[in-house]
Amino acid sequence: MPAGLLGIESLERAEIESILDRAKIFQPQQAHYKKSDLLRGRMIVNLFFEASTRTRTSFEIAAKRLGADAISISASGSSVDKGESLVDTLNTLAAMHPDAIVMRHSASGAPHFLARYLPTPIINAGDGTHEHPTQALLDARTILDRRSTLEGLRVAIIGDIAHSRVARSNIHLLSKFQAHIVLCGPASLLPAELAEVTPGVTLTHDIREAIRDADVIMMLRVQLERQHETAFPASEYFQFYGLRLEHMESAKPDVLVMHPGPINRGREISSEVADSQRSVILNQVENGIAVRMAVLEKILCN
Ligand code: ASP
Repeated sequence: MPAGLLGIESLERAEIESILDRAKIFQPQQAHYKKSDLLRGRMIVNLFFEASTRTRTSFEIAAKRLGADAISISASGSSVDKGESLVDTLNTLAAMHPDAIVMRHSASGAPHFLARYLPTPIINAGDGTHEHPTQALLDARTILDRRSTLEGLRVAIIGDIAHSRVARSNIHLLSKFQAHIVLCGPASLLPAELAEVTPGVTLTHDIREAIRDADVIMMLRVQLERQHETAFPASEYFQFYGLRLEHMESAKPDVLVMHPGPINRGREISSEVADSQRSVILNQVENGIAVRMAVLEKILCN
C-alpha cells in the first residue's frame, strides 16, 4: 500500500512532531506568496465528494506553493453523476498518474478501502464521521504557536462529538501527547464509548464544567447532514451548548477558542466569542496551508 495519510490514529508521535516542525518552517510562506520548486513536475488531484471551502482550497494552495500542479474535482459535475462507481472513478484518475490523490468522502473508511487497491498515495481530507487528519495537525500547530507543549494541556471539545471526524482525529493526536481531553455535548451527540477510545478522555454534559480550567476550547458544528435522528431545536442547542461571552468569564484568561469551521454563529458559538481576542479560528485556517505543505512534502519527497 503506498504511504499516504489516512488518519492520525496510526501515526507515531515522532511522525506528528516532524510534520508540525516542518509546518513551522513553511509558515512564513502562508502570508507572503513564495513558490518553491520542491514538488515541481508533480501532480496532485483533489477529489471532493462532499462540500468544502477551507480544506480543498488550502490543499490546492499548498500544492501550488510547493511548485506542484493541482487539479480539483468535485463529485457534482464529474462522472460520479453518471453512475460511475467510486472504484472506477479512482482507477480512472490513477491511470492519469497523479503523484497523490487528496480525497474527501461521506463514507467512513472510503479512502482506506481505496488505498488497498490503488498504486497512488491517498491523503484523507475527511471520511464520514471517522477522521480528518490534517485538521487535527493544523489544530495542534495552532496551539503550539501559543503554548510550548501539548503535554498536560486540558482541551475541551464541545458539541456534536458523535458525528465529528475532527473530534476523533484530535482525540487521537492529543492523547499521544498526554493531554487531558474533556468531551462535552448532549447525551444524544456524545456516545459513552468515546471514553474508551484513548486514555485521558473524560465526558461531561455540562458546558461550564468542560470549560473550567480548560487551556483550549474546541467548538464543533452540529453536523445536520450526518444526523438521522430529530435534531435539537437550534435555540435550545445554543442555550445549553452554545459558547457565549458569559462562559468566557469563568474560563482561563488566556484560553484559546478554536473551531474547524464552517462556524454557525448563534448556533454553537456567539459572534462575540468567535470574533474575540481569544479566538484563533482564522489562525487555524492560515495554518492549514503550512500543515498541508508539510504533509505533501512528507508523502511525495520521502
Ligand atoms: N470542516 C470540518 C469537516 O469537514 C468540520 C465541519 O464540517 O463541521 O469535518
